[in-house]
Amino acid sequence: MGLKTWPIFFLRSVPSLICWTNTTLITNNNYSANMTDTPSTAFLETGSWKWDADQIIAYIEKECLSPSIKRVGNDGKQDLRAVHAQIILPSLRGGDPFVTNDRQLVYVWVRTKHKVQGKDLRVPITDFFTALGWIISMVQSPVAPNINIERILAFYVKWCSTIGDEYFLGHRQPNTASIAWLTLVEGQDSSALYTPHHDIFSVSSSLPGGNPYKLQAAKMRHECLMTLLAPRVLPKAPRHGQMQTDGTRTWVDWGHCAETLAVLCIYLDVPPERRMKGLAVYTGTIAQASSFQSDLVRKAKKAACDNCKVLMQVAQIAYEDRCSAIQHEEDMNKKKREQDAKDKEKKAKERREMEERRAKEKIQELKERRAKEREEKEKQRLADEQNRQARQRQEAADRDAKQRRDDEKHRKSNRR
Ligand SMILES: [Zn+2]
Repeated sequence: MGLKTWPIFFLRSVPSLICWTNTTLITNNNYSANMTDTPSTAFLETGSWKWDADQIIAYIEKECLSPSIKRVGNDGKQDLRAVHAQIILPSLRGGDPFVTNDRQLVYVWVRTKHKVQGKDLRVPITDFFTALGWIISMVQSPVAPNINIERILAFYVKWCSTIGDEYFLGHRQPNTASIAWLTLVEGQDSSALYTPHHDIFSVSSSLPGGNPYKLQAAKMRHECLMTLLAPRVLPKAPRHGQMQTDGTRTWVDWGHCAETLAVLCIYLDVPPERRMKGLAVYTGTIAQASSFQSDLVRKAKKAACDNCKVLMQVAQIAYEDRCSAIQHEEDMNKKKREQDAKDKEKKAKERREMEERRAKEKIQELKERRAKEREEKEKQRLADEQNRQARQRQEAADRDAKQRRDDEKHRKSNRR
């Protein structure tokens, strides 16, 4: 049984043109899938953000004990049961995200959904948080393309925190979580359960700090990396002994990073031109948020560290860190905002200057009009004066003429 049945599932999962609309997961209404292959709709629904620990544990139990075989395969079903029984339940009972037996860390090797060079790829599940990420990835991936991948990461972080606050009091929680995804295209990963053009994804977290079993878990993950990458060899981890800006050194070795498992779980035997995308976040603010906001993840983004960058190189993964893309978008938006503000200021200045110019022109016009009026008045005054003088002259002339006439009359009458 097991692997040999996969191609049959592959054939059965050929899309049957049934629209998958009864879920908030789907943004693309043309998405078609076999209904029996539909993942649980509870995950990512807005209300699930506020689920209490019991509701999340019930979800985990349902998905681990009765998953869709078409989605996870028989191997996946076995692995889900093992993780539930050996990691989820004992960690909750023990109140510690790590499970131990006789001071030795308990871990479970699980198969990812894909094969590399025809072989199963196995990764170690070493703690509750890693287990939750792997379970979500098993039962929810793949998703329709263009889905809100950031939302998946945020819900995973929120659920880790809800469980941690309730069950792992006194234990630190992972400070970083990460999601990796890629879109399958024709011809890629024929051994997978799914048809092309789906986005396959995986979420995982960093190992929770301050726990004595963290180093054992990191060692397991490191060994897993070495085995899977062989014959390629991982160099010394760049962050092991790396000097920081504050003068202290970090001692982060292989296996600690959130990306470690997220990347491996969708690591496929496909040509290197494929592009895996990934995004890591600081968990703090997302965990405290009372509801999901789309900018929550963007604000918590975290660039891949030097260890992760070298891991991608050695694994020959063309990895697109969404953090830089988001940062680039933010820088462009900031630039645009600054330019807009500058343009606005420039326009306001121009308007101000124009208004000042107009006001000055008006004053000038007024001055000119007044001067003209004064000139006109002066002209009028002069004209009036001239008229008055002319009139006076005329009156004097008239008086003289009359006098002369009177004198003449007088002389004549005297002569008679
Ligand atoms: Zn890293």
